[in-house]
Amino acid sequence: MAKTRTAKRNSEAAPLLIRRVDAIPVSVPLTHPALMGGGQRFDESETLIVRIEAANGLVGWGEASAAPTMTGDTLPGMVAAVERHLAAVLIGENALDRAQLVQRMLRAIIGNTGAKAACDIAIHDLVGRHLGVALVDLLGGKARGSLLALYQLANPTVEQDIAEAKAKTRAGYRFLKLKVGVKRVEEEIESAHALRRALGPEVMLCADANMGMTMANARKFVTGAADAGLLFLEQPFRDNDLAGTLALARMSPIPLCADESAHSLEAIMEWQRAGAIAGVNLKTIKLGGIVPLMRAAAVSDTLGLAIDVACKTGESSIGAAALAHVGYAVPNLDWGININNHYLATDLVKRPVHQNNGSVECPTGPGLGVEVDESALRKFRVKSK
Ligand SMILES: [Mg+2]
Repeated sequence: MAKTRTAKRNSEAAPLLIRRVDAIPVSVPLTHPALMGGGQRFDESETLIVRIEAANGLVGWGEASAAPTMTGDTLPGMVAAVERHLAAVLIGENALDRAQLVQRMLRAIIGNTGAKAACDIAIHDLVGRHLGVALVDLLGGKARGSLLALYQLANPTVEQDIAEAKAKTRAGYRFLKLKVGVKRVEEEIESAHALRRALGPEVMLCADANMGMTMANARKFVTGAADAGLLFLEQPFRDNDLAGTLALARMSPIPLCADESAHSLEAIMEWQRAGAIAGVNLKTIKLGGIVPLMRAAAVSDTLGLAIDVACKTGESSIGAAALAHVGYAVPNLDWGININNHYLATDLVKRPVHQNNGSVECPTGPGLGVEVDESALRKFRVKSK
């Protein structure tokens, strides 16, 4: 009985009041450039770290990367969204009311899903630390014992992709993603076959065009690469091209996945209902945080869609930790988890989120289970002009 009374006191008599919200923009160099569809090249990671402090002195951390071609979020815009709009609806509120805070942020400003996600992750970290439980346990607990880690290949040449793929499969990875929509389509078809020949039949392969394909190239790719055994092709066209994606889906032997198009629960439902996609890539930065991502995962699973959860390329172990906890808790993870903190020349936590034998570890400890390296934040902080 005494225990029950203690639990009641914690939840009802002690709100976890938010007293401070800080937006910290950082720019961290990558170990090597990442090339993606539509001519995108990344040499550094622009990412927003949010620090939320409670009246009792506890601190929670969150992160969301800038993603101008995915969410429209730029780093200065995210800082402004937090400082001018989101902080005002969070300060003075009880962090334990996580779902209510998501609603307050939704009403405070349209869009800006990255800024909302960074705040929502920080709130979850804070609440987990306060209650002494890991984020995955706040989300309903583990639905699986390991996470199928998807390793992304985005090198300038197929020879480099194959060398990296071989090293990674030797290290235990069983699932690789090839970035396409970058080179000539004939070359990309040959790359898919070359990777398959180099890796053998057991390794799972998929491809992501990041909106970089024309209809003619996409038709050529799905036909020419069909025998390479790709699990899916992700986001061939612009994010609003439902008609084009549906036309491709009708003739494609390779199932299609929505990423840039899956920016809301409504969009996911519309694309599934149309028959355009067999799976969906869910990201906190697109959906506005952990609460909306978990809702989207439940709906996607109910609709029969495969689920892949992913960080933006170059998100640090703060975002990766949040996604790892989410990955353990979502109802299905048929198409794996893609974290990319290893792209950073310097991570932003003391012990980076680790991938081992083809699985992403679930960080232990309360909240996100990572300790932020504040000296790294100071070093890479973008100075305001
Ligand atoms: Mg993608």
